[in-house]
Amino acid sequence: MEITITPLPADKIKDKIKDQAQLGFGKYFTDRMLLVEWKAGQGWVDARVKPHEPFQLDPACAVLHYAQEIFEGLKAYKWDDGRVALFRPEMNARRFNQSAERICMPAVPEELFLKGIEQLVALEKDWIPTAPETSLYIRPAMIAVDPVLGVKPSDHYYFFVILSPVGAYYAAGFNPVNILVEDRYVRAVPGGTGEAKTGGNYASSLMAAQEAKKKGFDQVLWLDGRERRYIEEVGAMNMFFAYGNKIVTAPLTGTILSGVTRDSVLTLAPTLGYEVEERLIDIAELMADIRAGKVTEAFGSGTAAVITPVGKLCYKDECLQLTGGRVGDITQKLYDTLTGIQTGKIKDEFGWVRFVA
Ligand SMILES: *Cc1c(COP(=O)(O)O)cnc(C)c1O
Repeated sequence: MEITITPLPADKIKDKIKDQAQLGFGKYFTDRMLLVEWKAGQGWVDARVKPHEPFQLDPACAVLHYAQEIFEGLKAYKWDDGRVALFRPEMNARRFNQSAERICMPAVPEELFLKGIEQLVALEKDWIPTAPETSLYIRPAMIAVDPVLGVKPSDHYYFFVILSPVGAYYAAGFNPVNILVEDRYVRAVPGGTGEAKTGGNYASSLMAAQEAKKKGFDQVLWLDGRERRYIEEVGAMNMFFAYGNKIVTAPLTGTILSGVTRDSVLTLAPTLGYEVEERLIDIAELMADIRAGKVTEAFGSGTAAVITPVGKLCYKDECLQLTGGRVGDITQKLYDTLTGIQTGKIKDEFGWVRFVA
């Protein structure tokens, strides 16, 4: 499909963010976006790169009432030689369509997903920040725009991509975060939508996050929805625990997100001399193992959060400190290697990097 590039009027051109230390996460957006529509009987039509501006939506739109929405998150990096690299974008394309299927939305052809992102990023490449820990966050999403108040899959969808120059996801940067294990609310249940990257999962997570924040925590760690016993994941990160030289993470049982970063860590770790294991992690056993000194590090993995070390982990009345509140060696090594590959400082032995022409 041909992607039309509509002109950018002078009043839609914004000033670039000069002080990259002030970027934060997801606060600023570039000048342009991608928009493609899907209409019943026609399929995907009208692919265009256009100014980043508000949508005109009927207040009856399905997405506004029944949350028929999915999204993705990936990043573009500007290398020292000026090339622009995406990290494993085919994985995002594939997962987007898995989410689409679960939420009864049409699949976006992988080539359209990738080509659309590449063309948009190429046009906006001057927006990619270059300071350490910064990148261009890419947010593809799909919404149901039928102006009909009936609960059913829509006949009209918008697939769109917006771009945001970002710094570290957590205000503290690459420093340990404090996590509360949530033992009341749950995020996902077997048969639910936990594996789909859909807005509804996040809406239902807000209350737990807000209550944890009030108690001074950065994030909550979800337990399984049936027994509230096994570790699932954190907000927008999969979780890993280091038992000496072995790192352990929860298996993909259908209730957690299948993270691209999670997969990258599981692939990278053995090449760095670490063992990996995917298994159910019982929270009571985990706490006992931290107490006994068997668990030496914990970290989260996600595109936005990259590799984020855990400082304190609290469950019910007990708070345990990991790695003395410092960044552990395994966590640091994985962070350095992963970000090294993404930014071209370390050779990509895996074929993960895809350059934007
Ligand atoms: C996006 C996301 C992740 C991380 O996935 P990556 O592909 O590594 O960015 C983890 N958990 C949830 C709930 C997510 O939405």
